Amino acid sequence: MRQNHFLSPTLRDVPSDAEVTSHQLMLRAGLIRQTASGLYSFLPLGMRALQKVENIVRQEMDEAGAQELLMPAIQPAELWQESGRWDAYGPELMRFNDRHNREFALGPTHEEVITTIVRDDVKSYKKLPMNLYQIQTKFRDERRPRFGVLRSREFIMKDAYSFDINQEGLDKSYTKMYEAYTNIFTRCGLDFRAVVADSGAIGGKDTHEFMVLSSIGEDTIAYSSESNYAANIEIAPVVAQYEKSGEDLLELERFDTPDLKTIEELETSLSISKEKLIKAVLFIVDEKPVLVLVRGDHEVNDVKIKHFYEAKKVELATADQTIKFMNCELGFIGPVNVTTDVDVLADTAVEFISNGVCGANEKDKHFKNVNPDRDFSVKQYLDLRFIKEGDPSPDGKGIIRFAEGIEVGHVFKLGTRYSEAMGANFLDENGKSKPMIMGCYGIGISRTVAAIIEQNHDEKGIVWPTSVAPFDLHLITVNSKNVEQKELSENLYKQLKQEGYDVLFDDRAERPGVKFTDADLIGLPVRITVGKKATEGIVEVKIRKSDEVIEVPTDQLLSTLED
Ligand code: ATP
Ligand code: MG
Ligand code: MG
Ligand code: MG
Repeated sequence: MRQNHFLSPTLRDVPSDAEVTSHQLMLRAGLIRQTASGLYSFLPLGMRALQKVENIVRQEMDEAGAQELLMPAIQPAELWQESGRWDAYGPELMRFNDRHNREFALGPTHEEVITTIVRDDVKSYKKLPMNLYQIQTKFRDERRPRFGVLRSREFIMKDAYSFDINQEGLDKSYTKMYEAYTNIFTRCGLDFRAVVADSGAIGGKDTHEFMVLSSIGEDTIAYSSESNYAANIEIAPVVAQYEKSGEDLLELERFDTPDLKTIEELETSLSISKEKLIKAVLFIVDEKPVLVLVRGDHEVNDVKIKHFYEAKKVELATADQTIKFMNCELGFIGPVNVTTDVDVLADTAVEFISNGVCGANEKDKHFKNVNPDRDFSVKQYLDLRFIKEGDPSPDGKGIIRFAEGIEVGHVFKLGTRYSEAMGANFLDENGKSKPMIMGCYGIGISRTVAAIIEQNHDEKGIVWPTSVAPFDLHLITVNSKNVEQKELSENLYKQLKQEGYDVLFDDRAERPGVKFTDADLIGLPVRITVGKKATEGIVEVKIRKSDEVIEVPTDQLLSTLED
């Protein structure tokens, strides 16, 4: 590709609205441009990086036996009503009406569509297992689009869905995807961890997130210093809980707060922000639910604070009662959703609480006896729930460390959540009709590109891992007006392309300083500079990552590049 007519507009200054390095570098190196909040165009360099990641994903998915298809981005409301998610999904779902006033959504994910396709066309156990995937644009009206394409409102996702006849089959399909994901992110040059994640309120607990380790990550990972234990802290203590057989006890102590308003007084006046809620935790006494704590999310000056701020007594808990606790994941809140989506879980919690959620984060705007730590002590509970750095790892090996992570992939055992709701059944060997057992597996392709840059850069710019670099080589003519330099560059360009290299050829009439600065910013793995020694048939080869420079006679260039 000749740079002269190539759309790769570089910027010298750091754009003021870009907070994180990958966002800044993607703008500065001319990979993306913002069209509106959370909506980005990928310019040719960015597009090439996307395609590189897509190709790796395709290869590994195909290798794992998955089949590529393409579903429509636009989905009819009826499908979402059938699965029960039309109402549950919340404001992240972008909805619109067509000219006949029929309701639609722009797909944030495709469980409904794929389930109907398989339902209608796969009837027998003989066809299963089956795994279908697509690479496609997804739409989510994120509450807070940020960090460029790391959290955008329109983004590219690979989503795969597996269909099996039984749980063992699902376990196998899941393991295959888990392994494929490990290969994909390794090939992308990422430092990542697969962590046990929160499966929300849908029963089955197997779900892992693939987290790229990065200080800008919005998730916190608790991992062991000496074993493979790693979990999203949202779930970590619950995992610990499982290991301890789920029987832990907790004292719940009540304080008197006579000045607070009663539920009745506040019920009508309170407006709740479902979007802020993350999950509910249920306290159980003698198998009876007594209290729900709803965990919320807060942002203060851009800092995300996670805490319990809303709770509701289901039945009076007295000061001397001993309370067992369980996470809503154990199924007490009932099968409602399939994603770990904030809004869906919030709805779940709210539904259970039925009287409305208490709280509001305003002085005197709380229900009576609902605010942890103020109305009752939950110290022990919090200690248990929020695993801390330095704690012994739940698996008994090593101690817990924390790290921040960017979620680039998510694998999930869905079970029969969709097949039952939407009637995706098959006939087994004995001619008996059974619901298919499903799994779903997502990778944020555009987010992965940004995460790669977040982990692979220096003060001068991007440092692409070879596997995902937009081009393999950057060929630079120091002085494009110099005849020898120009001629040698043109010959090399032709030859390198013939050899199968993707070459970006800086044939611009720019000053050398500009070319080198741009080259560092764009960050292709290898730079070949044709300068003064062109007359002697010598070029300079520079490795972006190590800064290593060697002079190479042109007749040895190809063999040098091979090493
Ligand atoms: P997050 O927790 O970051 O909101 P999610 O859990 O809602 O992500 P999933 O429903 O698991 O996302 O979707 C699969 C993958 O899609 C995620 O692992 C992530 O890589 C990507 N993804 C999700 N939301 C976005 C977004 N707004 N912008 C870019 N990529 C996204
Ligand atoms: Mg998530
Ligand atoms: Mg999300
Ligand atoms: Mg997820």
